[in-house]
Amino acid sequence: KFVERFKSAEMKTVKADDVEMQPPKNAGNLAPLRGMKDITSRDEIYWHTIQKRAEDICNAYGFGFMETPVLEEASLFSKSIGKDTDVVGKEMYLFEDRDGAKVALRPEWTAGVVRSYISNGMHTWPQPIKVWNYGPIFRHERPQAGRLRQFHQFGCETIGDRHPGADAELIVVAYNFLKELGIDVNVHINSIGNLEDRQNYTVELVGYLRSKRSYLCENCKKRISKNPLRVLDCKIGSCAPVIVESPQIIDWLSESSKNYFMKVLEYLDELEVPYALKSTLVRGLDYYTDTVFEFYEEGNIERAQSALGGGGRYDNLIAQMGGQSTPAAGWGLGLERIVSSLRNKEDAKKYLLEKEWSGIFFAQLGEQARSRTLRLIEDMRKQGLIVKHNLAKSSLKTQLEIANKFGASHCLILGQKEVHDGTIIIRDMDSGNQEIVDQNKVISEIKKNLKNKTKVIKLSGSNL
Ligand code: AMP
Repeated sequence: KFVERFKSAEMKTVKADDVEMQPPKNAGNLAPLRGMKDITSRDEIYWHTIQKRAEDICNAYGFGFMETPVLEEASLFSKSIGKDTDVVGKEMYLFEDRDGAKVALRPEWTAGVVRSYISNGMHTWPQPIKVWNYGPIFRHERPQAGRLRQFHQFGCETIGDRHPGADAELIVVAYNFLKELGIDVNVHINSIGNLEDRQNYTVELVGYLRSKRSYLCENCKKRISKNPLRVLDCKIGSCAPVIVESPQIIDWLSESSKNYFMKVLEYLDELEVPYALKSTLVRGLDYYTDTVFEFYEEGNIERAQSALGGGGRYDNLIAQMGGQSTPAAGWGLGLERIVSSLRNKEDAKKYLLEKEWSGIFFAQLGEQARSRTLRLIEDMRKQGLIVKHNLAKSSLKTQLEIANKFGASHCLILGQKEVHDGTIIIRDMDSGNQEIVDQNKVISEIKKNLKNKTKVIKLSGSNL
């Protein structure tokens, strides 16, 4: 009954898009910047679960945590991701700092990781370097459902290993991570070959796109000369027939790239990861070679903003950035989209790691009781009991109402008389029954009471 009460108070399903995009009605100037949002403690349950699952799965697969700065020299991103890509050309938060240096907020993880690999001399460390990262990413895009300007990515990279098994392992990590969150995943996969394959293919593609120019959207018309592969990624309906008929990159792969790709697929078969071959999947960034892939939630693959994440191999990037030639691959998953997916799931509870609360609320009456309260709560914490309270309130009625709103199973009540007698009242919030116990025995008494009830679960954040 108690858990039910908590559920109805805290876990009302709200439509994801409403939560993400709508500032509260009277927020005025205090709303965050456009496309940015606060993560409040009401959402802690989702973020806590995702972070814990990410950490656990990375440990299990031998990936170590690393973090690069939020701010980097802007040229790092234009050199690696490509200046004509949407991410750099249109979306990067770019500014001069107080010393006049051109800096940018990271629009993805890989470029920073590669910079860090080179600048920390990681090529001298045992290879491969397998790392994961987790944190905010910034892109100045037009905010809409599923598109924010500050969002979070969980990323994994394997550096120093060119083997199809490494590509497959990376895909398995993302696949299992999402599965453990109860998300059924569709893996879309393709190969875009080595640089030479891609150059040959691009010549063919550009010729084809020029012949179909009049059917393309305005953006894609510009892409023909700037970034023709991106046309294949366009989600505008009018471009779809042109894309379907376009030459397929797989026909332009060298023998070695083709073999490599076949091996990746074999490993995925071996690991029982289902996948779909997508000949138009190219990813938007310049640095990819060979394997590229994206993750979609089952039943949610047609919407433009629906990819949960994606990645691929980038064997030339480290040499291109000034390091020794080192193969690498990685991916990034968008966490806000995962939160949305969990929020909309009927059975999400099965997958959420809830934080425990003992279910105890501590109410006090009078000045002397208040000072004694903190001491008692401190002792209870040392014994593993998590206790909520509201010290500013002095009326018992108000405190009991608050305890109810939190969904407390028990209230401890300490008034002047109890301070004087060295006792305390334990109130069962369901039955209203009260018993008076010795203060010295309160911890064992309350534990006994708790044992008789369903294990109580509650988030730690106060919503009052
Ligand atoms: P990308 O590197 O652009 O493929 O992004 C990887 C993942 O990050 C996407 O599949 C999304 O889940 C997420 N993502 C990318 N851009 C945004 C954005 N503007 N807002 C929210 N999530 C995003």
